[in-house]
Amino acid sequence: MGCPEKGVPELTSTGADRTCPSARCEPGATLLGVKGEDGRINHLRTAMPIDAHFVDTARQAGPPEQRMRFASGCATTGCSQWTGNRCGVIDRVLTHLESIDLPIQNGLPSCPIRATCRWFDQTGAAACHACTYVTTDNASA
Ligand code: SF4
Repeated sequence: MGCPEKGVPELTSTGADRTCPSARCEPGATLLGVKGEDGRINHLRTAMPIDAHFVDTARQAGPPEQRMRFASGCATTGCSQWTGNRCGVIDRVLTHLESIDLPIQNGLPSCPIRATCRWFDQTGAAACHACTYVTTDNASA
């Protein structure tokens, strides 16, 4: 059962009306960002819906989740990362980044899903500062 840290906004929605920013590459998801040469995710200006053809093509070069990020509806209780009232992924990511003392960037990355993002809903700007370091294939590690 996670508890928001001091100074971090309370979770405003436990329903399925939020968007998962670290979804699998599946038809119906949207392409959220692409990993750059520096290993960080560059968010697209507009999330791009993907179809089966995109998925098949992307998989030919290896797991797409290792070099791109995808978004889809947050599955809440249907997801193994759901802790009961929040997503456990971003909490673990933030704990890990705190332990390695990563510098905080100025401003937030532009993001096409911030209005509904589960991670932003839970932890606000801290999630966005961490977000560009997240690779979905490693997110639950
Ligand atoms: S954590 Fe922030 S930057 Fe990342 S997807 Fe959510 S709103 Fe966008």
